[in-house]
Order: sequence, then C-alpha cells, then structure tokens
Amino acid sequence: MYSLIDGKATAATIKAEIAERVEEIVKNGGRRPHLVAILVGHDGGSETYVKNKVLACEACGFKSTLIRYEDDITEEELLKKVDELNHDDSVDGFIVQLPLPKHIDEQRINEAIDWKKDVDGFTPVNVGRMSLGLPSFVSATPKGILELLLRYNIPTSGKKCVILGRSNIVGKPMAQLMMQKQWGDSTVVVCHSHSPQLKEETRSADIIIAAIGRPDFVTADMVKPGATVIDVGTTRVPDASRKNGFRLNGDVKFDEVAPLCGFITPVPGGVGPMTICMLMTNTLQAYEQFAK
Ligand code: NAP
Repeated sequence: MYSLIDGKATAATIKAEIAERVEEIVKNGGRRPHLVAILVGHDGGSETYVKNKVLACEACGFKSTLIRYEDDITEEELLKKVDELNHDDSVDGFIVQLPLPKHIDEQRINEAIDWKKDVDGFTPVNVGRMSLGLPSFVSATPKGILELLLRYNIPTSGKKCVILGRSNIVGKPMAQLMMQKQWGDSTVVVCHSHSPQLKEETRSADIIIAAIGRPDFVTADMVKPGATVIDVGTTRVPDASRKNGFRLNGDVKFDEVAPLCGFITPVPGGVGPMTICMLMTNTLQAYEQFAK
C-alpha cells in the first residue's frame, strides 16, 4: 500500500511554525517580516497567485504590500521601483510576478533584484550561490519538494533520482539540490524532450520527479515498485463536471502508478501548496539573515 505525501497538510504545519516564530520575534520587540509583491497588468493566473501569496503572508503573521501597475508601465519605471525596494530597509523580500508584458525584458528586471531580497530565488546570483552550495534563497517549488522528502523521511542519499524536465524554475534547480551532498546526495539523471532512454531511466529510479506539463505522461510501466513519485505537473484540462470547466492534471497517471509506489504526491494537494509556503520560509530567512 502506498503512502500519500500530503502537501496541503505539510504546508499548513510549516505556516503555523512560521507564525509561531513571528509572534516570538514580535514579543521580543522585533518588527514583522515584510514581503512585497509587484503585479503588472491583470493576468487572471497572476492575480490568483498574488492573492494567495498575500493570504499566506497573513497566515504567517507577515506584513505584505501589493504594488500594482497597469501593463503600460515602462521597463525603466519598473527598474526604478526594483531599485527603490532594494534599498528599502523596511522590506525583507520582494517578488515581481511573472509573466510581464512583452515590452519588458524579464531577465533585465530579474537581474536588477538584490539577491538578498530575492525570495523567489530566480536571480543569477542566487542560482549561482545555490549551485556552489553557498547560503542562498532556493526557488520555492524545488525547495518545497526537498522539504516534503525530508518531512516524510524519504531516504535520498545514494538513491537514483530521475528528473523529467529541465526548466529554470523546477528541473534545473531540482537537479542541483538532489545532487548536492548537503541536500539530496542522490545520483541524478535529468531527462527532457530529446532523451531517447527516458523510460529506461525512470524504470530504474528510486525517486521520480516529473515536471514537464504533460498530463498522465508517467505510466505504470515507467515506475519501479516501491519508488517515490513526485508530480509537479499542473495542466488545466477541460472537465465539464467542474463549475469552472477545468481541473488540474498532473504529469503522472495517478490511478495506475500509485499502487506501485512507496510514496506519491497527489495533484492537487501535493507539490502545489508547498510552493507558496516556501516563499514564506524564504521571506523569514531574509528577515533573519539580513534585516537591519
Ligand atoms: P516548462 O518550462 O514548461 O518546460 C517543460 C520541460 O519538460 C522542458 O524541459 C521540456 O523539454 C520537458 N518536456 C516536455 N515534453 C516532454 C516529453 N514529452 N518528454 C520529456 N520531457 C518533456 O516546465 P516548468 O515551468 O517546470 O513546468 C512543468 C510543469 O510543472 C507544468 O505543468 C507547470 O504548470 C508545473 N509547475 C507546477 C508548480 C507548482 O507549484 N506545483 C510550479 C512550477 C511549475 P525541453 O527542454 O527539451 O523542451
């Protein structure tokens, strides 16, 4: 019988732990950690993500500020705001919600963020520091996965971990984390759309982390009995039985894969809830390391 990795419950526990720590800080005369989110335009998905981030701040006892711009803001104006936040001692961390409008160079904005306030962990300095095993802010989704493996006491050291997908926000940082001695300490294989031996690789994996955005891609014939399967995929697929007309589908064919597994994450309720939660732990980390 497989064990379900409950990301929702784990995230709630971690948020309660953070809230407890914040109340201790406040009781000792400190100020609350402060996260700022910049939202440009009115993209539906971004509105929801930012709203959930603000709610998570409330749950953790953080101060949060939402800065909104219409999508005609210029790149220079946005860079000016980033610079202002970099130098604002009342702000511990800030995020610029992606995607940005086409006329703004996302990479230029990203590179302008001070790594000490980059709680998304997307700046080149943080990615580089993480790759070198230095103190850094690790991006939320891979950090959340590592936290789940840790909290469920799933052994990773010396295990074979196969990661499907090589994106900058999930696959690549996940590979770094799983490979490094102080974190996963696993033997890591990264597969992508041009990997010819993908099935052979997953079949010999102790841990599979699927982050490709292809619904039901990982099937029973690709999984070794007893393996741990982490499903990052969240693709909207039409579902007439739902009020909003869609449901979120993972990259793993859950019904046939789960019975083979030692541990498996569901979609939704697995990796997803951990992502925002890790943004909160990064904000607390920024406060504790760098607050003036
Ligand atoms: P992405 O930028 O969309 O890239 C997808 C990756 O999957 C690429 O490396 C691609 O290979 C690979 N890929 C695509 N089709 C493949 C196939 N048939 N076989 C093998 N590899 C294939 O990835 P992402 O942004 O990391 O997103 C992946 C999924 O995770 C999406 O469903 C996304 O919504 C979800 N996600 C969830 C969370 C969360 O918090 N739950 C966070 C982030 C992302 P190439 O490089 O060769 O093109």
